Amino acid sequence: MAKPKVAFYWCASCGGCEEAVVDLAEDLLKVVEAVDIVFWPVAMDFKKTDVEALADAEIAVSFINGAIRTSEQEEMAKLLRRKSGLVVAFGSCAHLGGVPGLANFHNRETIFERIYRDIPSNDNPQGTVPQTTSTVDGNELTLPEFWDTVRALDQVIEVDYYLPGCAPPPDLILEAITAILEGNLPEKGAVLAPDKSLCDTCPLADSKPDKVSMKDIKRPHEILADPEKCYLAQGLICHGPATRSGCGERCINANMPCRGCFGPTKGVKDQGAKILSFLASIMGLENEEKMTDEEVQRLIDQIEDPAGLFYSYSLPVSLLRRKKAV
Ligand code: SF4
Ligand code: SF4
Repeated sequence: MAKPKVAFYWCASCGGCEEAVVDLAEDLLKVVEAVDIVFWPVAMDFKKTDVEALADAEIAVSFINGAIRTSEQEEMAKLLRRKSGLVVAFGSCAHLGGVPGLANFHNRETIFERIYRDIPSNDNPQGTVPQTTSTVDGNELTLPEFWDTVRALDQVIEVDYYLPGCAPPPDLILEAITAILEGNLPEKGAVLAPDKSLCDTCPLADSKPDKVSMKDIKRPHEILADPEKCYLAQGLICHGPATRSGCGERCINANMPCRGCFGPTKGVKDQGAKILSFLASIMGLENEEKMTDEEVQRLIDQIEDPAGLFYSYSLPVSLLRRKKAV
């Protein structure tokens, strides 16, 4: 019997999701035995024309990582959608827009200005920025269009399942592949991770006070965090209350607060707003005395880059989506 065809593709992301597949280690061999990988540009020499030559829906499942930032990524996502029975948004950037989505606080013009002209280490006296077409020695060269706005995968194509995380952990990847191969999948649109908050599974949960009161907000490099005490109780912002569990508490176990890469649980529309409202509810004094306006402002001023912090992974799918384009 023919093995199910599988594709992997990389859009706007750091490459960590590709490494996560390799992190399956010897389990990768089991996957390779069970499926026929028909497209995986980072690891195997297939071309776009190989995908185009397949019948529509001939690929059983495509795992697409990364956000959509360029015309090429959009074109490939649409091609793989047409050729695939199932599409899985693989990792935070495909799922939520991820860290590349923070670029939605800017637009193409300001990004190009900064990257190609302003950075002091640049050597670009003509101020050249990427062009979609240019002629070199009489030959026309083309580059994909760089969009103003970064989008999550489901803002461009229909997505069947979401595998969260920066990057998704190997156990969840293997579970997802096994579920797909066995046809043992949850309802369409599901996030393939537990629907409970990280605080529910956090090893520090017992030290999380019922009423956390924050008198000072610190950044991780400003204190030596106690690895056995809930970070919120130490004045460190932790996104655990607004984040889905399933990562194996990777950051917590490395003595770092969570930054929310698994996205929110099912009932939460806007992860950043949820973190903000949670923090607003716990900021205060131990004896619940009312804070003065000055004390509140002092706490707010201690939060460095609040929008970037609260929406570290989810700006493109948030209610804000992007800074107003000018
Ligand atoms: S707030 Fe962070 S450190 Fe505290 S229990 Fe939740 S996930 Fe753990
Ligand atoms: S602790 Fe938070 S940021 Fe770290 S891997 Fe888990 S969900 Fe992602």
